[in-house]
Amino acid sequence: MATRSRENWEVIIGLEVHAQMLTHTKIFCGCSTRFGAEANTQTCPVCLGMPGVLPVLNEKVVEFAIRAGLGTGCEIRRESVFARKNYFYPDLPKGYQISQFDLPICEHGHLLIDTPDGEKRVGITRIHMEEDAGKNTHDPEGGPSRVDLNRAGVPLLEIVGEPDLRSSDEAVEYLKSLRDIVVYLGINDGNMEEGSFRCDANVSVRQRGEAKFRNRVELKNINSFRFVKQAIEFEIDRQIEVWEEGGTVITETRLFDTQKGVTRAMRSKEEAHDYRYFPEPDLLPLRIDQAWIERVRGELPELPRAKAKRFVEEQGISPYDAGVLVADQAVAAWYERAVQAYGRGAKPVANWVINELLRLVKDSPEGIAATQATPEKLAQLLGLLDERKINAAAAKQVLEAVHGTGQDPAAVVEALGLGQVSDTSAIEAAADKVIAANQGQVEKYRGGKTALLGFFMGQVMKELQGKGDPKVVTDVLKAKLEG
Ligand code: ADP
Ligand code: MG
Ligand code: ZN
Repeated sequence: MATRSRENWEVIIGLEVHAQMLTHTKIFCGCSTRFGAEANTQTCPVCLGMPGVLPVLNEKVVEFAIRAGLGTGCEIRRESVFARKNYFYPDLPKGYQISQFDLPICEHGHLLIDTPDGEKRVGITRIHMEEDAGKNTHDPEGGPSRVDLNRAGVPLLEIVGEPDLRSSDEAVEYLKSLRDIVVYLGINDGNMEEGSFRCDANVSVRQRGEAKFRNRVELKNINSFRFVKQAIEFEIDRQIEVWEEGGTVITETRLFDTQKGVTRAMRSKEEAHDYRYFPEPDLLPLRIDQAWIERVRGELPELPRAKAKRFVEEQGISPYDAGVLVADQAVAAWYERAVQAYGRGAKPVANWVINELLRLVKDSPEGIAATQATPEKLAQLLGLLDERKINAAAAKQVLEAVHGTGQDPAAVVEALGLGQVSDTSAIEAAADKVIAANQGQVEKYRGGKTALLGFFMGQVMKELQGKGDPKVVTDVLKAKLEG
């Protein structure tokens, strides 16, 4: 599809996110939420939807919802109400989903995203608790379809965003920011590919300057940041084309085809919309006292944006580096311990963590926990560098060894003979040898081609098996070449 005249059109996007809570048990029964068990083994009369049984609310889910609300600046409703959302589908044995409707637990929040024009505040309309449905599987060979109800009753938070986003990039930023927050809060694992953090994108366009919103489309099946961007981009072009050709965009749900990169109509909103919500008679209104809210508030961790800001302001590292470090809570904590242990500035610590340590652990699923280096050992290593006992090339080698074995840096230096040569007489001898063997280059250097210093450095370093103190080598060489 040709890219249309986008300048005349404004894009409106609002995201609905479903985040699976990291509780051990389901929201209304004691069944396990563990992933990957044999089908229908983690079920009971409650989550199977048998008649005559009663749901019992999992307190942990409420606590997690409060955490999510406080982490996104929401007001926590002191009294919220569960509701039945009625629809018929084989993965929903009760014929209704227990959710919240007009009185959700959290409302009126926001989060901040970075845009090319600076920081932008994006509204969060509401956050509510609900149960997940089961999972249907279909046999591609035409055999029977099956239903696995292990997932039925797994707790979800639905986080509904305001239609404040104006581009696919902003949508991706919002999602990343929200995901970072729920992961930091310890309530969700942030896994989009496995569907424990999933997103529906509502997209519409309107002519610039127009006051009202036009019809919107809800996009489903976008389980990666890349697909979010692709699906929205396709949809923007499609809608502009429909409007420009005199048609009307239909309010409907569309599925993203990840193979072809297009969206396809799934069902019209009108058909699907009559959920006949009504209050859940089997659950009392949920009352939350202020003391509980304050306790949860007091236990909130520092969130990624605040942490990054603090790193930049207090430690003087770049916003980019701060972003890399806070992207993983464990990395940020490791880094901070190393800064403390080192005590002589954050920048070298940030550089070594980002450029070396993260490279060493990048293929390990356990992340920074995979290294046997400790923050204290990195600090010791940086100390050896500062004291010029080793040079930077040797330090990288030492870190690799410490990472793999957990030995002390000083012991590695000793064992591998990496101690730096700063003894002037040894360096002078090496420099004399190199100068004698390269008289032609010496002439050129003296004739003004001073860039040859690098060549001489390299040769002297080679003589010293790479262990020369670069500062001393430079001084000695300059003195000899220029003197
Ligand atoms: P529903 O219950 O049908 O999903 P909501 O009113 O809860 O409807 O809206 C769901 C989402 O749609 C919200 O994230 C909201 O920001 C977004 N939204 C609403 N109107 C528009 C629009 N015109 N264009 C894009 N997104 C919209
Ligand atoms: Mg919706
Ligand atoms: Zn159960």
